[in-house]
Amino acid sequence: MLTHHEKLKYSRQIMLSPIGEEGQLALHNAKVLIVGLGGLGNPAAQYLAASGVGTLYLADGDTIDLSNLPRQILFSENDIEQKKVDIAEQKLKAQYPHVEIEVIDEMLDDELASYYISQVDVVLDCTDNIASRYLLNKHCVAEKIPLVVGAATGFDGQCLIVNSLHENSACYQCLFPASEKAPEQNCQTLGILGPVLSIIGGMQALQAIKQIVGVNVNTNQLLMFDGLSTQWQSFTLPKNNDCPVCAQ
Ligand SMILES: [Zn+2]
Repeated sequence: MLTHHEKLKYSRQIMLSPIGEEGQLALHNAKVLIVGLGGLGNPAAQYLAASGVGTLYLADGDTIDLSNLPRQILFSENDIEQKKVDIAEQKLKAQYPHVEIEVIDEMLDDELASYYISQVDVVLDCTDNIASRYLLNKHCVAEKIPLVVGAATGFDGQCLIVNSLHENSACYQCLFPASEKAPEQNCQTLGILGPVLSIIGGMQALQAIKQIVGVNVNTNQLLMFDGLSTQWQSFTLPKNNDCPVCAQ
């Protein structure tokens, strides 16, 4: 049951018919794993905590650098060289005292990914490297846990949901077969502008909330955002029936 305080606090969400009190309670009971507390993980974690998600698992092994600050909006100059997950936990707890936070202060390897993914309802891939994307995709498909993948460089962003609860859902590796993987390109090599990350991180939070409250989330759909021309495009992805990760 929601408390009176919760009913008041979340009243503008509860009045949305796909959410209602039942959906708000589902958010309260939900556990979400956010991998990567950079430019995508920062806004995604804030919106999920603010919306009433009960438990966040935050995974990142990095420390805060001066060049992170224009886009990683939980952090300030006083936080430089501290662990991202520790500062994120402090700031989120101060603003959203209800949220339970479990800190994982290292990047996930096979063993950690398997352990944590099996405990949560949704995973957000907010990383910026291809190896982590394949790892999270593999374990989310194996555990049948929905995965919301976000990526952004320059003025461009992408979002994809992989939901192996649906038989025909394509996975990240269907879209980007490992043998065709491109050279690593990220914010360090291509640059990035903060609001683009906020848009994609916000989209990841939106998709996760919809998944948790039981709104139908389109699978096999790649959303692409061009921040220069301010345009969204949506592509339908076929499942690869020979995919080494998701094909039965
Ligand atoms: Zn696949």
